This record gives sequence, structure tokens and C-alpha cells, in this order.
Amino acid sequence: MYDLVIKNGSVVDGTGLPAFRADVAVKAGRIAKIGRIEDAAHRTIDASGKMVAPGFIDPHTHFDAQLLWDGAAKPALAHGITTIVPGNCSLSLAPLKEKHRMKLVGMFNQIEEMPYKAFAEGVEWNWQTFDEYLARIQQGLAINVAPLVGHSLLRLWVMEEASMQRTATPAELQQMQDLLRQCLRAGAIGLSTSFVDMDETLQPVPSRYADMDELRALASVLGEFGRILQVVPEFYDADLNIARVDQLAELSLAYGIPTTFSPLFVNADNAAAVARVMARVDAQFARGARVWPQVQTRPIDISFSFAVPSLLFIRLPSWYRIMRLGSHDEIVAAFSDLARRPALLAEAEPMQGLWSQLILRQVNTPANQPLVGKTLAEIAEMRGTTALEAMIELSLEEDLDAHFLATDMGHNDDPAVSALLAHPRVHIGASDGGAHILSFSTYGDTGYLLGHFVRETRAMGLEAAVKKITADTAAIWGIQERGQLQPGYVADIAVFDAATIDRGPEYYVQDVPGDGSRYVRDVVGMHSVIVGGEIAWSQQAGYAAAACGQILPGPAA
Ligand SMILES: [Zn+2]
Repeated sequence: MYDLVIKNGSVVDGTGLPAFRADVAVKAGRIAKIGRIEDAAHRTIDASGKMVAPGFIDPHTHFDAQLLWDGAAKPALAHGITTIVPGNCSLSLAPLKEKHRMKLVGMFNQIEEMPYKAFAEGVEWNWQTFDEYLARIQQGLAINVAPLVGHSLLRLWVMEEASMQRTATPAELQQMQDLLRQCLRAGAIGLSTSFVDMDETLQPVPSRYADMDELRALASVLGEFGRILQVVPEFYDADLNIARVDQLAELSLAYGIPTTFSPLFVNADNAAAVARVMARVDAQFARGARVWPQVQTRPIDISFSFAVPSLLFIRLPSWYRIMRLGSHDEIVAAFSDLARRPALLAEAEPMQGLWSQLILRQVNTPANQPLVGKTLAEIAEMRGTTALEAMIELSLEEDLDAHFLATDMGHNDDPAVSALLAHPRVHIGASDGGAHILSFSTYGDTGYLLGHFVRETRAMGLEAAVKKITADTAAIWGIQERGQLQPGYVADIAVFDAATIDRGPEYYVQDVPGDGSRYVRDVVGMHSVIVGGEIAWSQQAGYAAAACGQILPGPAA
């Protein structure tokens, strides 16, 4: 008697080999048999006309906080994601001393655009060490979690204030090494660091004060466990990015560890720079190093309002300072002040092309309702003003709650993105799931891959695309016994319709603690998602109460 049999589907097993018709039997959380299965089962899924694939793995997320109130990382699970990697970009929620909690919340707010109120109202702070945090999220976990430890957290714990002032002493290095060992033993999959991010006061995050000795010291501990290093390089500058590729290659070769960097965006105007970075990646792989660039599938769209500091304004220092450091009333006052207006307009003027294309997405006042859906260029013409001034006026009229949408902000050169996604040394990821919740929806990138790049443009075959987001990801990250459909492997499975799989439209929901809002997307064409042998989500029944998510790799023996 099997626990579950998935009958009559096409098995895309994750290896990249051609799909084949077979049934899949599950027993005790693992795949028991693939073939013709006549034996009885407690549950049966009829997968006629559907694909049966390994569950997808999302290697770049920031679900660290959301996991404290939502063990399914909604809606990621429904999109077929059965394993997520949180703790990227030097930030995790542990290890963290009580006195540093607000400091960390500030960094999450600045870098990942997570609202302060969500932490204040959604988080009961009852952990400090990494294993305490894992024990905390394990209750009710419906998705597998392969957590990274943030380098900034190690520094903050060991060096406190000095973590944002200087390099580490030899004694501090040793303490950081010990702390990292503890985290890896508790179940962390690796370490994340960042060379670009800033904290809530616009100062470099702690990880940016590390020198090469510190990176070596930490990478050597990763080497003891064979675990991965994730970094955010200076992705906006090809030369700096290439220097980081070389640095990662040295660490990879010296300590025998995989490394990955994200993001790598390709736009119409940076194709040559991306080609140079990829040439260096290829050269380093040829030396035997592992330096995986992470490339996301979706083009960048950004939504924003003046009420929440958007990374869109980071190149306009006066604007960003007002939005970032000002209270609601101070932001209103600054933009209402006609004496300050000319300087603000002058600073933003060079980006006129962007302002005119912005679409007014959402307002509250009935008077402005008819303008929703129009571009700022259209609204400016109706009002006899400029797009930039129309954006300021609308924001003031709406008490800062006017939402604008910037589409095609990058990573939108379809042929170039297709070539990267299909590249054998490109790792598909970087969804940023759970972060930037008011800027864009970070869910559905796998549906976009299988819908847009596989079905619509045929840039990739289905088997190749599935392999990229399952077996390849598991192999790159050292996630054992998952990522393929093979007898003996853990039964993490996505059953979907290849003819319809996609991401649905982006919409606005209020489901973040503290009356918080975010943009999400529903999945299209997913039939069921199975985690550890249990149906965790189905189109028919939605999210199940079963909680079979695991921490990967989990405590070291
Ligand atoms: Zn990130």
C-alpha cells in the first residue's frame, strides 16, 4: 500500500532527459517507484495530460521574517517552489543579540524594503542563536528551508558597534569562525555576504568592512563543511564585478567550496558588460572554480509611492534622503515647500524619460480615480504641467498614497536574457522572494520561465528548464536527495499543465502583519505541490494544514 500515487502523468525527472509517461508512487515521504503502478494507495492524483516534475528550488529569497508568521512562504509554495533559500545578501535573522534587533530591522527595511510594522506586530522575538531561530520557524513549516547565515550578523554579534567601523582583529576573526561553525552545525546551508548594501542610515552594512583575510577565514570554515558562499557584487560595474568573480574563484579553489553571486541583469545597454562578466565566469570554471552567476527570469517592473522609500530614487540623493529619513509629515512638508521645489526638479530632470512613462497605478480620492491607468505624460498634458510635477502634485493630493508603476526597468532584452538563462554556467534564481514587497511581486518567476521562455518563445526546452530549477540547483547548493524524481529521493513534486503554466497578474493584497500591503501573483496551471510526500498545496483545496517542510541540510551529525 502506497501513501500516494500520481497516475498517468508525463515525468520530467529533473535530469534533462526527455519526459516519459509513467506513474509515481510515494511511501514514507520518499519516491518508492516510477513506472506502471497497480498497487493501491491512500491517495491518488490523476495527472493525465500533466507534467510531474521535482519541486522547484528558489535559491535567492528573503523569506526570513515571513517564515515567522507564514510557514508556507505564500504564495511561493503554490507556484511549485518546495525549497527556498533565505538569508541572502549578508542578512539573516540569526544569530542576533537582543540589543541588535532594531538595528537588523532597520537593515531589512532599507535593503529588502520590509516594513517596520511587520516586525513590530508579526514577530515575537524569542531567539538569539541560529539553532533557536531554526527551532522557531520549524513549527508549522510547510516548505523546505535551506537557510544561509548572514555575514553582517556574524560581525554584529562578535564586533558590535565596531562591525560598522573597521576590519576585524585576529581574535575577532576566530570568534566569527567559531560562530559560523555553530550555525553550520545547527543547519545552515552556507554564508551570504554583500559588497554593495547600505543600512537604514545609508552607511555600508557590516559585511562591507571585511577585508580579504576575513573572507578567507570564513571561507575556510565553509570548506570544512563543503558549504556555499553567496555574495552581492558591485553588479552595476563590469570591472568591479569581474574582480569579485576572480576573488570568488580564489576562495572556491582554495577551500573547495561552491560560490554564487547575484544579481546579473542584462539590459539593451549593458550587453557588452554582461558578456565580459560571463567570459570571466567561463574562464574561472575552466580553471576548476565554481562561481555561479544567478540570473532571474522576470523583467524588472517597479511600483512605488512617496510614502515608502523606493530604491528607484537611490540615484537622486535629495529625493532619497527626504523619503528615507523623513516622517510622513516631513515628506509632505518637503515636497509642498515651493522654495525647495526647483532644486528637486533640477535633480530629477535628467530622468524625465522615466517620469513620463510612469503609470498611475492606484489612488484613494474619487477626483483622481479617472486618471488611474494613464501615464504621467498623459496626466501632465491634461493638467498643463510636466510629468515630474504631476507626480509630486498627485502624491500630495493623495497624502502620499498615490502608487506609480515603472515598467521595463531592465532585464527586458528577451533574446539576451534567453541566451543567459540557457547558458550552462548560469544558475537560474534571484527572485528575491519575500523582499521588496511594495516594489514588485517576487513570486512566479518559475511560471514565467515555463510559460514565457519555454512555451511562448521556445528559448528553452521544458526538460532543460525544469533541470535548471531543480536538479542543477540542488547540485550547486549541495542539497541531497532532492531536485530529481528517482526512487529513494525525497518526494518533493510539482504537478502542472505545460500548456497553461504561468504567473498570474500582479495585484495588491493586505496580508502582512501590521496592516501591511504587498504585491503578489497567483500561479496559473499548477495542479498540486507535494512536499516530503504530503500534498502541501493543490488547485482544488489550496494550502493544506500538513506541515512537512524540513530545514536543509539540517543539523550536522
Ligand atoms: Zn537579496
